[in-house]
Order: sequence, then C-alpha cells, then structure tokens
Amino acid sequence: MRTVVVGGGVIGLAVAWRALRKGVAVTVIDPAPASKASHVSGGMLPPANEQLFDQDDLRALCLASRSLYPSFIEELEEFAPAGYRRDGVLDAAFDEDALLSLDHMESFLDGLGVRTQRLTPAEVGELQPAFIPALGGLLAPDDGAVDPRVLNAALCTAVEALGGTLVRRAAVRVNDHAVVLDNGDTVPFDRLVLAAGCWTHEIEGLPPGAVPEIRPVKGQLLRLHSDPPLLRVTARALIKGRSLYLVPRLDGELVIGATYEERGYDETVTAEGTHSLLGRAAEVMPGVGALRFAEVSAGLRPGSPDDLPLIGPTAVPDVYLASGHFRMGVQLAPVTAEAMVAHLTDAEPVAAAAPFTPLRPAVLAAAA
Ligand code: FAD
Repeated sequence: MRTVVVGGGVIGLAVAWRALRKGVAVTVIDPAPASKASHVSGGMLPPANEQLFDQDDLRALCLASRSLYPSFIEELEEFAPAGYRRDGVLDAAFDEDALLSLDHMESFLDGLGVRTQRLTPAEVGELQPAFIPALGGLLAPDDGAVDPRVLNAALCTAVEALGGTLVRRAAVRVNDHAVVLDNGDTVPFDRLVLAAGCWTHEIEGLPPGAVPEIRPVKGQLLRLHSDPPLLRVTARALIKGRSLYLVPRLDGELVIGATYEERGYDETVTAEGTHSLLGRAAEVMPGVGALRFAEVSAGLRPGSPDDLPLIGPTAVPDVYLASGHFRMGVQLAPVTAEAMVAHLTDAEPVAAAAPFTPLRPAVLAAAA
C-alpha cells in the first residue's frame, strides 16, 4: 500500500510517522515541511479550554490525545528529542471574573478526572515570581507544553529513519491515483491523506465539495529570551475577560501568544500585534520589557466550516482528510495520527475521532 501525505505540518508528519511504524510505505509532499502554523505555534498543551465546556465530542478527542501524548513522545524520542515538558500548566487569575472562571475550570476538570491543585495568591507568587500578585491559581500538574519546532524536527527525523520519503515540492492536483507536483512529476498512491492545513482545499482535481474550504485564522506570537527563564511553568494569565498564553522553554525562551485575526492568507507580522501582546504580557509580568527580543511570527490556523477537525475518509475513494485543527493541532496530533493510521491499515476505527468525519452534515452542507 503506497500512502501519500500532502502537507508536512505537525499533522501530516505525525500521520506519516505513525503509519510508517505500522509498515505502511509513506511519501510526504511539502515544499517546506513544518514551515507554517506548526512552526509558529506555541505548543501549549493545557488539559482543557473553555471551548470544551459544551462540546462533548471535542472534549473526548482532546482527552484521548492527552492520554496518548506521553507514549507518543517516548516513542518519538527513540529518534530525536521532542521538546516535551509535563511539569504543569498554571491558570492564574488577576481579577474577580477570572477567579470565577477558575472555579468553573476546576469543577470541569474534576468531573473529567484531571488532577488539579488550587493555589493561593502566595503559592502563585512562589511558583511564578515574575507575576504581579494574583488573586489565585489552578495548577494542572500532569499537563505541560511541547516546543513544536523541536517536535516537528523529531517527526521529520523519524519519518526518514523509518524509510519514509519527503518530497520537497508543492502538490498541484490529484489525477485519479496520482498526485501531480508543481514540476509536472507525478507521485502515485493507493491512499492519499490531504493534510495541507488551510491550503488543503486548494489542491485541484477532486470533485467539487469533496474537500471543504479551510479558513485561515491568523495568529501572531512573540518569542523573547532571558537567562534564567522568566517563568517556571507554562501558564495562562486570565485578566479582563481574556487569556494570555505564556509558554516558557527550558533554554530561556518565552513564547507569548496569541492574536486571533480573520485576514485571509495574510502572514505579515504587525506593529499592532506585537504591541498588543507585549502590552498584555506587561500587565501581568512587569519585568517582561527587559527580556531579549527574539522573534515575532504569524501563522494561519486551519479552520473548518464548523471550526472542528476533519479526520477520516472523504466521499472520494482512497482520499482522506486530516485538517481543520484550528487552535489545537499540536495538542491533537497524536489522536489524529492514531485515527488516520487505523483508516490506512483497515484497523478498528478510533472511536473518539468518529464524530470528526469529513462526511458530517455541517461540513457537507458548507461544501455543497
Ligand atoms: P500547517 O502547520 O499549516 O501545515 C500545512 C503544511 O502544508 C505546510 O507545511 C505547508 O507547506 C504544506 N502545504 C501547503 N500547501 C501545500 C501543497 N499544495 N502541497 C504540499 N504541501 C502543502 N495548537 C496547539 O495545540 N497548541 C498551541 O499552543 C497552539 N498555538 C498556536 C499559536 C499560533 C499563533 C498559531 C498560528 C497556531 C497555534 N496552534 C496551537 C494551532 C496549531 O499550530 C495548528 O492547528 C497546527 O499547526 C496545524 O497543523 P497542520 O499540519 O494541519 O497545518
């Protein structure tokens, strides 16, 4: 069985690696693997976000991925370091509304069996001395973050080590059981996985409606540096009804994110985006201005018609989708890979992924 994966972001690479492990022959086609959203991403792996409160299927998918993460990383680290840390995610509340949302999150996570610890203001200050005094905190000690750049590099190494082929070209169209590249070459396949993020629907040759439009949702993100790291654990700072993601790396990098902007395929970084992120960070970490400026970057989150992932077969025989992971692609990579590999090897489907079939009514209606 020759499987071709179009798109080598974290999703396509994870699918490719897990399929290779099962003995599937895989070729990944991407002009610049892991250069788009997966390169920009913060890699935060929180136990939950507010989107999961009323979305049972998404909650089950996230929990399935969360439980797969440690073994996914352990097996990947047989090839290269994967940049994973599982030393806690702290939600810190800086106003009364935020404190109420901590209560809500605590009971939600308790109901899911996710371990949490409520922290007093003094305990938040001990854990993150760089913060202004908080009103309280909620620590999820079994959660954490991954550095997507390290993860992606490890996935590329693993794909090549297991005999996978990376073709550094763009896919232009699908012609029966072959992908036509931008240099006119063709790559035949028995099964095809389309995982090109918000560019997935641009690949030509499939019947209209087979692949829904994937909307780009721009996010800007800052990378600063200090030695030693300014923060000790991954955090969300809750203030003024918003949540700022703060992801410290062990090498002193601090990732601050992110903006949400609907501006089509615009990947420019702006002074306004940088100013807003720095301003929000300075509200809770007055020392942030002294950090070394490393990078500001922008990426496009892939948003499906209902903002939920698309994982599984399309109406076209042998053509599958793994896209639309929006703001959670790094988090959902292990379960997406597991679900796609079950399809590619005709194994028992992964139950948690079943509701995310691209053949669901909301997607078919939008694509019609
Ligand atoms: P992409 O990473 O966009 O990859 C698509 C790939 O397809 C690219 O490599 C591209 O070169 C390739 N491609 C495009 N067209 C073609 C073609 N014609 N032929 C071949 N290849 C093609 N998620 C989390 O879980 N946690 C976070 O903390 C988090 N933070 C984020 C912060 C920001 C600012 C952004 C932008 C995203 C964040 N996300 C986060 C979301 C996450 O990054 C995405 O959901 C995920 O990266 C999507 O991965 P992907 O592989 O589907 O898409």
